[in-house]
Amino acid sequence: MEILEKLKEIFPKGSISKIELEASEIIVYTKNKEFFLNYEPYVKEAVSQLKKRIEVRAEKELLMEKSETKKKIQEIVPKEAQINKIYFEPERSIVIISAVKPGLVIGKGAENLKKIKKSTFWTPRVERIPPIKSDVVAAIRKMMHTEIRFRKKFLNNVGKRIFEKRETNRKWVRIIGLGGWGEVGRSCTLVETPKSKVLIDCGISVGGKDPNTMYPYLYTKEFDPNEIDAIILSHAHLDHCGMIPYLYEMGYDGPLYATTPTIDLFALLSLDYIDVLQKSGKNPIYTAKGVKEAVRHAIMLEYNEVTDISPDIRLTFQNAGHILGSALVHLHIGNGLHNILYALDQKFGRSNLLEPASTNFQRVETLIIESTYGAKEDVMPPRAEVEKQLMEVVNRTMERNGIVLIPSFSVERAQEVMVILAKHGFSYPVYLDGMIWDANGIFTAYPEYLSKYMQKLIFSGNDPFTNPIFKRITTRQEREKVWEDRPCVIISTSGMLVGGPAIEHLKHLGGDERNTLVFVGFQAEGTLGRRIQRGLREIPFENDEGKTEVLELKMEVVSIEGLSGHSDRRQLLAYVNNLPVKPRKIILVHGDYRKMISLQAAYQKLFGIETYRPINLESIRVV
Ligand SMILES: [Zn+2]
Repeated sequence: MEILEKLKEIFPKGSISKIELEASEIIVYTKNKEFFLNYEPYVKEAVSQLKKRIEVRAEKELLMEKSETKKKIQEIVPKEAQINKIYFEPERSIVIISAVKPGLVIGKGAENLKKIKKSTFWTPRVERIPPIKSDVVAAIRKMMHTEIRFRKKFLNNVGKRIFEKRETNRKWVRIIGLGGWGEVGRSCTLVETPKSKVLIDCGISVGGKDPNTMYPYLYTKEFDPNEIDAIILSHAHLDHCGMIPYLYEMGYDGPLYATTPTIDLFALLSLDYIDVLQKSGKNPIYTAKGVKEAVRHAIMLEYNEVTDISPDIRLTFQNAGHILGSALVHLHIGNGLHNILYALDQKFGRSNLLEPASTNFQRVETLIIESTYGAKEDVMPPRAEVEKQLMEVVNRTMERNGIVLIPSFSVERAQEVMVILAKHGFSYPVYLDGMIWDANGIFTAYPEYLSKYMQKLIFSGNDPFTNPIFKRITTRQEREKVWEDRPCVIISTSGMLVGGPAIEHLKHLGGDERNTLVFVGFQAEGTLGRRIQRGLREIPFENDEGKTEVLELKMEVVSIEGLSGHSDRRQLLAYVNNLPVKPRKIILVHGDYRKMISLQAAYQKLFGIETYRPINLESIRVV
C-alpha cells in the first residue's frame, strides 16, 4: 500500500518492526526503545503528510512485566481516581485501566497516560466504572476483551478495505431510500459513491403487523450485503437499528459504526425486542446471535472524531440531541467532491439530558432531515412551562395521597422525567419498573455524552440518577408492595401501554380517583394509551383466570406535551438557518405526507433551497 510505503520513508530506518491496521488507524510497532521514547515528531510529520491517524506501540519484548506495570500505574495515578481493575491485552500491547474517575487517571493534558506509556511501554486505555451497575455495559466490555484475536483480525481487514485502491466505473453519488422515506419507521438509507456503498440505519416499523411494510426494502437490486462497506447507525431506537442483527444473520460481516452508548443501548433494546416477541408467542425475524454478531463487528466512534470508513468516505458523528449517544451523520465524499449531512432523528433544542443538535459542519451540500413534526401546527411549548405543568400534576396527586403512574419508554424519556423530579427537589419515592434501571446504568457510564448541566451535577457529586428517591422494582411482590406505599410515583414501561409492567400498575391503580395517569410521550394510533387519551374509560382486561374483566378508569388522566426528543417545526427551520453554510439540496424523510408538503414549502420559501420529499425506493442523484 502506498501510504505504508510513505510512512516508512518518514520514520527513521530500523524504527518500525511491523505495521498493523485497526480500521482506519495505522498502528506502528517498534522494538527500538530509544525511538519509542522519542517518536512524537515523526508521528506529527506523518499525520500532517498522510492525514491518517497513527499510533506507536511497543513490541512485546519491550513491555514491562504485568505486576510491575500495575504497581507503576498505582504510583502515577492519584488514589482519588479509584482504580478498580487493571487488565492487559498483550496482543495489542494495551493496558486497560478501569476506574470510577477516569479523568483523574488521564490527568491534565493526558500527562498521566503519557507517563504510563513511557515508563511501562504499555499503551494505556481508560474505562469508566458506572455508579449504577449495568449488565449490558459489562457484557459488551467483556466481549470486546475476550475476543481480541477476532477483533484484531477483523479490524485489520476493515483497514485493508479502507486503504485499498479501488476502481469502479461509477462517477456519481446517489442516495437511495430503502425505508423511512415518506413515512415514519423502518429508516434505511443507502449511499452510493464512486468507490463505495454505505448503509445509514436499518430499522423496523415497531408497531407494524404487515411484513410488507414492517421491514426495509432489502431485496432490491441496489442492495447487496456483500457490496456494503459499512453500516452507520445514528441512534439506538428500533426504527433505526431493529434490522441490523438480521443483516449479520444474512451474512453481512463488515463494520457497524456508532457511538459507544448507541451500541450498548442497541444491544439492550434489540435483545428486549426479541424477548417481548417471544413472550407474546411470535417469532422474531432474528435471534440473539445476530445481536451478538453486530456488537462483535462494532467500531465505536466519539463525536467529532473524523474517520475514514471506505476508500472515498470520511465519517464524522456530532451530537443529535435526540437520545443518549444519538448522532448526526456527516459524510465527506471523495476528498471534497460532496458532503452529505444525515440529520435525523434530532432535537434542535435543549433538554435536561442533552445539548441541542450540533450545527458545527463546515460543508454540507445535501441535507437529509426529518419532518416528523414539520407541519405548521407542530409547535411545542417551552420546556420550562412543560416542567412546571408536570410538577403541578405530580404535587397535586401527592397532596391527595395518590400514586402517579407514568408510562414511559425505558430510554431517554424516563431519565428526563427522573431529572425533572430531582431538579425540583421531589422527595417522595419514585419507583422504576421495566428496563428503565438497566438503561440508567448506560446513562451513568457516559456522562461525557450528557448535557453540560448534567455533567456539572455529576462531577460535583450530585448525580440525579443516584438520588435515593429512585428505587428499582424487579419482582411482582415488590410491585404489589409499591401499591401500598402512598403517595409515590411509578415510572414504568411500556410508554404507550401496549404491554410491560405499566399494564399491571394500571389495573391496580386505575380504579382509585386519588391516583393520576400521566402521559409524557407520543401515543400512537391504535394503542391503549391513545384510546385512553381519546376518552376511553372502560377498559376490558383479561384477568389471571383468562376471563375478561372491565376496569373502570377513575384515576385522573393528564397528557404532558412537549417533552419530545424531536425538533418541532420551528426547530427544524431554525436548524437549517443556523448551519454555517446553506445546503444546495434538502431531502425530507421520516414524516407523513402532509407534514412533508408543509415543511417543503417552508424550506423553499424561506431559504430558496431545492427541497425533495421522496418515497421508498426512489433515488436522488446528488453528483
Ligand atoms: Zn429516534
